[in-house]
Amino acid sequence: MYDIIVVGAGPAGISAGIYGVSRGKKVLILEKDEVGGLIGKVSTVTHYAGIIPGETGVTFAQRMKQQALGAGVEIRRETVERVQMQGDVKAVVTSQGQYECKKLILANGSTGRKLGIPGEKELAGKGMGMNAAKHGNLYAGKHVYVVGGADGAVKEALYLASVAKTVTIIHFEPQLGCIAEFREKVKKTPNLRLMLNARLHAVRGTEQVEQLDIRSELDGSVTTIDDVGCGIFVYAGTVPNTQLYTELELQDGYIPVNAWMETQIPGVYAVGDIRVKQVRQVATAVADGAIAAVHACIG
Ligand SMILES: Cc1cc2nc3c(=O)[nH]c(=O)nc-3n(C[C@H](O)[C@H](O)[C@H](O)COP(=O)(O)OP(=O)(O)OC[C@H]3O[C@@H](n4cnc5c(N)ncnc54)[C@H](O)[C@@H]3O)c2cc1C
Repeated sequence: MYDIIVVGAGPAGISAGIYGVSRGKKVLILEKDEVGGLIGKVSTVTHYAGIIPGETGVTFAQRMKQQALGAGVEIRRETVERVQMQGDVKAVVTSQGQYECKKLILANGSTGRKLGIPGEKELAGKGMGMNAAKHGNLYAGKHVYVVGGADGAVKEALYLASVAKTVTIIHFEPQLGCIAEFREKVKKTPNLRLMLNARLHAVRGTEQVEQLDIRSELDGSVTTIDDVGCGIFVYAGTVPNTQLYTELELQDGYIPVNAWMETQIPGVYAVGDIRVKQVRQVATAVADGAIAAVHACIG
């Protein structure tokens, strides 16, 4: 029996784990993938206080993992498949077993949104991807397209511009939706161009991307671009990983909580990107994790 089980080892879950063990509790974090979550897959971590110069997602994730393990948090690589949240003892069923705990912290974040366009599935991993930090180097000297115009998309586009021959941001709105800092950097990056009021409509190819169809948001016209061997990186927002939590009432797919990060079920908390909130950043994720764990230890 664990005092606390945390689902997900992104910044929110790791923070919850560190705060939980610091108060003498037995804490298990269940993570289906690498420790680090979304931020572990980005080219550069920006704006979080205390990051080292040139901090990459990989280095940031490594340090989070070391800190948690060093503090005595148990982390197991298992996918959570089912949870039973009611009652004083909660049950968590994973790909490998079943665990029980007194308090449950849901920190399993969100997943990159798929575009749902023809060719996306067939060409996944053959030119269409989402991890610029991991796959960007494969496109050295080639053309790259980034779908999305918010902070994450533009930041990854700026990184890709340091590797690729050209980078084109495809964004459906008339202007980028990113912060001023990134907009200024875009202006100063000569091999980065913008394709605004435009959506990626279809992708064609067999072993690699060969053609892209771009649909104009202004007049609906579709333009075909021949670009054999190009890379397409999709950063078109994320969707919350709340499918497992059928016992909870959701708001637009996200979990509502109070100021202590408590859900409507006693002893169950939700932290980080998975909860209803205004700002989804590392800073707010780790704050949520700390608040939930402190409350779980006293409550
Ligand atoms: C492209 C991009 C760039 C960004 N750059 C920055 C930045 O520079 N600075 C910043 O502050 N923020 C940035 N963000 C936002 C930041 O990444 C998120 O706010 C933060 O990662 C949220 O942390 P989290 O712990 O809530 O969730 P996540 O990071 O999503 O972690 C959730 C974890 O849960 C795991 N999981 C999911 N389902 C299960 C399951 N069933 N069983 C077990 N484990 C599961 C996942 O594998 C994942 O590891 C960026 C986001 C994106 C998309």
